[in-house]
Amino acid sequence: MSGETTLWPLLLLAALVIALGAALAGQIRQRNALRDWLAAPELQTIPDGSGAWREIFSRLQALRKQERRQQFELGNALERFRLTIQALPAGVMLLDGQLRIVWLNDAACRHFALDAARDPGTLVSQLIRQSEFQQLAAAYRAHPSRQSAQLRVAGNDGERVLSVILIPFSEGETLLVSTDVTEQVRTETIRRDFIANVSHELRTPLTVISGFLEQFDTATPPTGEAARAFIRLMAEQAERMKRLIADLLTLSRLENSELPPSDETVDIAALVAALRTEALALSAGQHTIETAELSDAKLRGSADELRSAFGNLIFNAVRYTPAGGRITLAWRIVDGQPTFSVTDTGIGIAAEHIPRLTERFYRVDKGRATASGGTGLGLAIVKHVLARHGGRLEITSVPGRGSTFTCRFPVERSV
Ligand code: ADP
Repeated sequence: MSGETTLWPLLLLAALVIALGAALAGQIRQRNALRDWLAAPELQTIPDGSGAWREIFSRLQALRKQERRQQFELGNALERFRLTIQALPAGVMLLDGQLRIVWLNDAACRHFALDAARDPGTLVSQLIRQSEFQQLAAAYRAHPSRQSAQLRVAGNDGERVLSVILIPFSEGETLLVSTDVTEQVRTETIRRDFIANVSHELRTPLTVISGFLEQFDTATPPTGEAARAFIRLMAEQAERMKRLIADLLTLSRLENSELPPSDETVDIAALVAALRTEALALSAGQHTIETAELSDAKLRGSADELRSAFGNLIFNAVRYTPAGGRITLAWRIVDGQPTFSVTDTGIGIAAEHIPRLTERFYRVDKGRATASGGTGLGLAIVKHVLARHGGRLEITSVPGRGSTFTCRFPVERSV
């Protein structure tokens, strides 16, 4: 009995030691599991703990999930940002402190013929060689502040004009932004040339008129036949100015008014017959003016505009065909397309002039055109009217033999 009594405490102690050992071993196992997991913290392999460890592991799992979600959202936002910059029509390049390319978008590659895989790491001034850019880069290095320049670069379809801006960016980096301004520069040049041309065209007859007027303001002003001749010449110049202003107003109306109606139909056969009568008056019996074919097809559009366009072509044929020549008018349907053409046996036009004939104030022979009463705006008006009707002008010509001006309209315009 006394032997049993002395064994109990020992047994209890042993049981306690075993229980403590087992508990400690469990803790060490879970700690090792945590250590192993932290070495490669994947959501799928997170240990499944017990007791307080269960709570720790489930908290870790929640934190890891949150981190994953944030990473995913950040990745998404970065990708969207990258795609946005890629989609910009402007070229964007990120340059480092030495102005080496770090990153560039597709538009920048296109603008400067660069390669997004090959060119990062290279100094931008080694790749964009234009002297305007070299000067811009040098000025920027000296004073890193927002600076810009215009460059002319070779494009697939001819020379392009780029506006390039260098902008200081974070931590010594630089943003290079390039925009294609070819169209703006072209429009601005056309506008400037146009104003210079109009001023010149109006000044010439005014100079003539004021020169004659001075003659009348002298002690011995011209009288009789001389005076009448002067007055006739002044009237001619005034007439020239009136024609020029009328053509300018027509052009401005064409640019500013609504597109021609497609529910109004124009009787082209009647229109051409009326214009032929006017052309006969202008020709004063010097030309044969005939109609080869007059279809009874009508055209949807503006009668006033079509009269102006066809009239310009017919009167040009009279003006640029020497006496004895023949002018043939035709209104027909060709491959379903309503087509009006004027053929003359006149002086013709050399091939190099043909693409430029519809430019405002472009003339092959300025003296001749002005002498025959031209304003230099006739074919520009024709081109405008045709464009507004969805049509186009074709010109074929042989110098010394004659020309054909053809207006082709879309099938839907025919009635
Ligand atoms: P212009 O008032 O000078 O005739 P247009 O715009 O009507 O202006 O024509 C532009 C130029 O095209 C003319 O100056 C002329 O050189 C040339 N041209 C136009 N029509 C003909 C034609 N039928 N034959 C030869 N040249 C022509």
